[in-house]
Amino acid sequence: MSATPPPTARALRDALARGDRRAADVCQEALDTTAARDGALGAFTAVAVERALARAHALDAARDAGAAPGPLHGVPVAIKDNISTRGIRTTASSRILAQYVPAFDATAVARLEAAGAVILGKTNCDEFGMGSSTENSAFGPTRNPWALDRTPGGSSGGSAVAVAAGLVPVSLGSDTGGSIRQPAALCGVAGLKPSYGRVSRYGLLAYGSSLDQIGPFARTVEDAALVLGVIAGADGQDATATAEPVADYLGALTGDIQGLRIGVPRAFLADGVAPAVLAAFHTSLEVLTARGATLVDVDLPHARYAIPVYYLIATAEASSNLARYDGVRFGYRTPLEPGDTLRQMYERTRDEGFGPEVKRRIMLGTYVLSAGYYDAYYLKAQQVRTLLRQDYERAFAVADLVAMPTTPTPAFRLGEKTDDPLAMYLADIFTVSANLAGLPALSVPCGFSEDRLPIGLQLTGRMFDEATLLRTGDAYQRDTNWHTATP
Ligand code: GLN
Repeated sequence: MSATPPPTARALRDALARGDRRAADVCQEALDTTAARDGALGAFTAVAVERALARAHALDAARDAGAAPGPLHGVPVAIKDNISTRGIRTTASSRILAQYVPAFDATAVARLEAAGAVILGKTNCDEFGMGSSTENSAFGPTRNPWALDRTPGGSSGGSAVAVAAGLVPVSLGSDTGGSIRQPAALCGVAGLKPSYGRVSRYGLLAYGSSLDQIGPFARTVEDAALVLGVIAGADGQDATATAEPVADYLGALTGDIQGLRIGVPRAFLADGVAPAVLAAFHTSLEVLTARGATLVDVDLPHARYAIPVYYLIATAEASSNLARYDGVRFGYRTPLEPGDTLRQMYERTRDEGFGPEVKRRIMLGTYVLSAGYYDAYYLKAQQVRTLLRQDYERAFAVADLVAMPTTPTPAFRLGEKTDDPLAMYLADIFTVSANLAGLPALSVPCGFSEDRLPIGLQLTGRMFDEATLLRTGDAYQRDTNWHTATP
């Protein structure tokens, strides 16, 4: 793997805009690097060679004809395979969608392309986003470029690895309970989950609709800000995509965090965090205080219930969202035999089409929504969700953002947690609460373990205040060089 980091999206775009480079050459280079390296990593489920090259040539031609270059002119991007791409197979890493080719682009994809980006391909994930290791994929696992016997995290593992390994400068993932931030942390890149409603979910294959958000992976916070500015904003196709104005995220990167109050929920970090993670976390806080931020204690008393609350609400929503995969409307259908009833067709289609973790979630979610258990589980979980949101409101009365490690440990080994779903769920202990509360959260690389595995710092902000998160993350990257290390 290369020793110097490949150019950022911003640098690449500027070189292309100046005419120092051609989009077709940049695209070919990204295709060549991907062809050479991705066999060992498994980040991509599909590489759209022809479409990408055609698009890059068209961008060069438009540039030659005098068209103004967009903010992502000629930048190759990778898209998680649960985000719809017109004409490119979109499977959510599920057998049930193995042959699905969308007739439309997700809004986030359409906006990237309108800004000049070149879609290089689709990336591997846990099936429908359900997992924390990218092992629950019909395509097999993705590997962590820092240690090939370890997981990249998940569920957006392929998008994290595509950036970490230098195949593309930026990519899109989705985050329902940590699926952008956790793999970003374990792969040593930046990952942002925007506020709920900041980015349109149109074209995102739904998992937990009250939790899902699309967001960027990048090596620099600046690139994450660039991509967010392109994909954010209201959308007539998604009523939850808010009309709240989109801030100038690049303009917010002033480096100035003088007087910023950073809340630290010390009690919540007391147990179960690996010593190397805790040490990197505390050192990163010193970097931020040296730049003028101050630390304040905050309490998130309900955060310890976040995992059970998340796994009740997310599975309930999943069981409802995944009901549409019935072998009738689209997707896989079991081969029919004479005398099959409709019910048998549904059962076999879903049995053959879904993997074991997805089935577990559908059963759990159906159970918690069922007549006798709704009040005890689903309703109770919604009530605790409100308490958790109130914890954050209290914290934001005294702090401008809340800092935590992104994950309790660095990357775990492939296969290490696959037989123990509860152990896998605990990997999300620090990430799920931002989704439950709807808040934006950013993970930035903040160190390495003894065996050189990346560690992430997570910053959670006020609703729609991505600008403060990005400003702080960018300020942190001005004083550290964790993000320039390459595997
Ligand atoms: N790991 C969590 C889950 O399995 C979160 C996944 C996600 O954010 N898509 O549900």
